[in-house]
Amino acid sequence: MSKLETRVIHVARREDLPALEEAAEIIRAGGLVAFPTETVYGLGANALAGEAVRGIFAAKGRPADNPLIVHIAGEEELESLVSQVPARAKPLLAHFWPGPLTLILPKQPHIPAETTAGLDTVAVRMPAHPVALALIHMAGVPVAAPSANLSGRPSPTTAQHVLADLAGRVDMVIDGGPTAVGVESTVVDLTREPPLLLRPGGVTREELREFLPTMVVDPGVAALTPPLDVRPSSPGMKYSHYAPRAQVVVVEGSREAVEAKIKEMALGYQAQGLRVGILATRETAAAYKKGKVQVVGGREELAEVAANLYTCFRRFDDLRVDIILAEGFAAVGLGLAIMNRLRKAAGHRIIRVD
Ligand code: AMP
Ligand code: MG
Repeated sequence: MSKLETRVIHVARREDLPALEEAAEIIRAGGLVAFPTETVYGLGANALAGEAVRGIFAAKGRPADNPLIVHIAGEEELESLVSQVPARAKPLLAHFWPGPLTLILPKQPHIPAETTAGLDTVAVRMPAHPVALALIHMAGVPVAAPSANLSGRPSPTTAQHVLADLAGRVDMVIDGGPTAVGVESTVVDLTREPPLLLRPGGVTREELREFLPTMVVDPGVAALTPPLDVRPSSPGMKYSHYAPRAQVVVVEGSREAVEAKIKEMALGYQAQGLRVGILATRETAAAYKKGKVQVVGGREELAEVAANLYTCFRRFDDLRVDIILAEGFAAVGLGLAIMNRLRKAAGHRIIRVD
């Protein structure tokens, strides 16, 4: 693709919001704008223009069969995108929107095949970030936006991450500072019975079950090994996203056992001449004397861990480590999303100790 000049604008305060008019114009004209949401940065284009959406796939190097999430700025816009809003969606919208919850619903025919990768369903969410909401509102169209990273790289949680991947490939990057949640939205398929959690994210399984008591978690989500002979329920599941360049190994178990195992492994890999990175917690970091240690947060502070996870992956890339030994977390609450990303990054290389 030909190289674009990527403009960067800073929109940190309410007074800066009028600057988004230019970004909205780019979207209306079929261009690409990266913008902050509360989860990660998104790469936005007009969701109703197939040509514009193709630009997203080209800029990211994203496989064309992996559909995009359509972002809206008001609940009423949902009706123009989906053929039916089922009764069980209503309380979810009331409770979780705007916020990190994406719903899969039957699509209206005018949504181009590029956006939904040819599926007859569409993924929709209303983000809870003032910049995202203002941009979508000003653009006057729904905005298709996957994470604003090169396909296969960790999702960006700062504008600097976006630029590292996409400078020269998109028209504009809106810098709104670091994102708060740090992992992507939760994706729930409401076209199935029972409803199916396809991707854990910023809204937890436990919160969702209060509204969708019959909801089941897709077996691919928490699997220790990828289900080889099972057709993925969501196209995105078969891709190993979120991956840093180094090989990741997740070590799960009690704090003491994990610490001991990682120390032993770090020593072994270093003896082989490999550069070792360790994804540690505040409680354990001081125990590691070998390797490049990154503290992702407190062991029980899952919101903090989610917010820092992708930044740590990118730092390990910058440090050019060959292998990353990552401590595991309890897969409850936000921990399910964290462990899903860690296990995917590890290509399901997981060691259980105890
Ligand atoms: P991303 O935009 O990179 O955060 O990824 C969006 C996720 O939602 C991917 O895992 C997609 O496969 C999934 N997704 C989007 N649309 C659909 C759909 N219509 N049906 C099932 N999964 C979807
Ligand atoms: Mg993504």
